[in-house]
Parts: sequence; structure tokens; C-alpha cells
Amino acid sequence: MHTIKVHLTRDAQTDQSYDILIGDGIIGQIGQTLADNSVTRCLVISDASVDMHALNVIKSIQEVEVTCQALTIPSGESSKSLSQAGNIWEEMALQAIDRSTHIIAVGGGVVGDLAGFIAATFARGLPLWHIPTTLVAQVDSAIGGKTGINLDAGKNLVGCFWQPQGVFSDIQTLSTLPDREYRSGLAEVIKYGIILDEEFFGWLEDHTDELLSRESSALMHAVSRSSALKAHVVEKDEREVTGLRAILNYGHTFAHAFEKAAGYGTLLHGEAVSIGMACAARLAHSLDRVGEDMVCRQNTLISKFQLPQSLPSLDVSKDDLITIMARDKKSVHGQLRFILPNKIGHVEMIADIHPDLVKSAIQ
Ligand code: NAD
Repeated sequence: MHTIKVHLTRDAQTDQSYDILIGDGIIGQIGQTLADNSVTRCLVISDASVDMHALNVIKSIQEVEVTCQALTIPSGESSKSLSQAGNIWEEMALQAIDRSTHIIAVGGGVVGDLAGFIAATFARGLPLWHIPTTLVAQVDSAIGGKTGINLDAGKNLVGCFWQPQGVFSDIQTLSTLPDREYRSGLAEVIKYGIILDEEFFGWLEDHTDELLSRESSALMHAVSRSSALKAHVVEKDEREVTGLRAILNYGHTFAHAFEKAAGYGTLLHGEAVSIGMACAARLAHSLDRVGEDMVCRQNTLISKFQLPQSLPSLDVSKDDLITIMARDKKSVHGQLRFILPNKIGHVEMIADIHPDLVKSAIQ
């Protein structure tokens, strides 16, 4: 088992540091960990597709005689909605959930973002634990404290920062993940290599077969290295104020527009990110920031992981996509800003890019 500490100490009174535990078959340890932390009552929130993993979590909690209730939400992005949050708040009120109750989120990024938002808002804030069961959630969404729900106007427009007490990333839970969902998570793993770690990128190039077949030691390394890189960024810029945390959005300005234009759920998040990274690398090339070789190396790895690099045909124009990007919550005064590489392992935020160049980068 690997432990990665996320150091978040603002001052002597405010220590929000926590551990990310990464292992193969560790889900059954959650009960004892909660008992060790003097937890007496908890609410497990999961989605319908992860029943088996949620049951293992509940069993582990009941074994240590901690009171455990459970709520299941429908699978899929549409659950990250105000109406779903409202249903859960009402149900929690009916069950007399109080401030001593810990929320345990078992599932992918949808459950994590929604349950995190619920934990942050109900009774002015409840302690939260993440048990991520998708690759996207293990390497990305369960780390760093971002929670949120979607509005018709865009993804994740309502939310807040709410750090968990701990994260249990059990790579065994990934064995039940459908192939398409699993590969979607590999896009976020590639992202870490491009933005921060050329050596890791090289390791990914050398281990594509092991990762595609979900070989345990390769998965342990991919999840651990990705988690450590994300933790490092979050420690340096927890609330995305210095600009460092924004590098995690490599490919995402494109991706969020593609997800919205295609209709949420049509493209998986990681698929939109892989197309977005291909666009971002082409954009960087058109600005003379990187050579053709960098674009080719990145896109070869994307292909090896069987991820898309170009958009399926959509009923929207490139001008519409630019309009959506300008409304992205990461844009400032409607100005287009992109995280762009200048080599594998290093990226920067570049503002004020002419929309024609952005349109040319979209294929
Ligand atoms: P998801 O939560 O929808 O999970 C994908 C699908 O896999 C769902 O149908 C789910 O029911 C199913 N599933 C989950 N675990 C499974 C398992 N072990 N076995 C079988 N099926 C399983 O999607 P995701 O890709 O995990 O996350 C995407 C969401 O995460 C988006 O809403 C995105 O905005 C958000 N996100 C948040 C952050 C953040 O920092 N908070 C970062 C990245 C992404």
C-alpha cells in the first residue's frame, strides 16, 4: 500500500492535511479507519453501478459497530444537479443526519463531486471521506477538495472547496469498470505526464499494454504517481489563486466546451480531455511553442490508449464552440486562456489567443 500525504496547513489552527491510501484490496480497511478516528455515525452515498463496492464499504463499517446509513443515486452526469442535491438534503433531514455524521462517497467523479457538495453544505458542513472507484476519480477528482454540481449554463458552475478527511483508492474496484470508462481515466493520467513529469510520460509509453490490461503493479504506479503530482499542485495552490492549479486544466477548456456541445454524457469526460489535449498541442504548435515531434509524441500515446483525438460530428459550429469556451468559468472577461505546453513535462497559461488559431486547432 502507498500513502501520499496532502499537506494543507494554513496556520497553526487550521490543518486540513489528509492521507491518500492507494492499494490493491484495501476497501475493507475503511471501517477500522473510521473507528480509529472516533467516527460514530456515517452516511454512505454511492451510485447504482457500484453497489458491490458500496456493500463492501458498509460491511466494513458495520463490523466496527459504527452506525451506517446509505443513499444511492442514479449513475451518470445528470445526477450532478440541483434537484438531486435537493433530494439528498431532504432525505438527510428526514433521517436526522447531524453534524457528527461523516459522509462517505463511494463511486466515480459524479458521486464524489455531488457527495462532496452535500457534505460541504448540509448542516453547514460535515466531514467527508472519498472512496473513488473510477480511474478519473482515483487520479483526479477525489483529490484536492473541489465539489460541485452542473447548471444548464455549464458544468460545475455551483460548488465549493471542501477537503476530505481521507481518500481510499482501491485499484481492485477498477476491475469492474467498463473499458470505455477505464480508458477515459487514462487521459487524465497522460495529462500529468504532459504538464509536470516527462519521466512519467516515458514510463507510460513503456507500459501501455500493462495499463490497458489493468495489471496491478502498473496500475499502482500510475495511480500513485498521478495522485502525488495532483497532491503537489493542490498543496501549492489549494484554491486556484496563484495560477499553478490551473495547469491541471490542460486540454480542459476545449474539453468542457466539447462535453457541453455534444450533450453531457455523449463524450466521456476523459474522452473530451484527450480530444482537448490534442487540440491544445496543435494550438501550441501553431504558436511555435512546441515542435511537430511533441504533438506527435503526445498524440501517439493518446492513440495507444485507444482514446480519441478528434471530435465526432456535432451539430455546432466552431464559432459556437468558441462562444462556449469564452463562457467557461476559467475564462476572465470572456478572454480565451489556455494551458499550453512548451515541452513534454511543462505547461504555461497563455491568454489572449486569437479565436482563428483556436478554431484551426479543433479537428
Ligand atoms: P462517473 O462518476 O459518472 O463514473 C463513470 C461511470 O462508471 C458511471 O456510470 C458510474 O456509475 C460507473 N462506475 C463507477 N465506478 C465503477 C466501478 N468500479 N465499476 C463499474 N462501474 C463504475 O464519471 P467519472 O469519469 O468518474 O467522473 C467524471 C466527473 O468527475 C465529472 O462530473 C467531472 O466534472 C468530475 N471531475 C471532478 C474533478 C474535481 O476535481 N472535483 C476532477 C475531474 C473530474
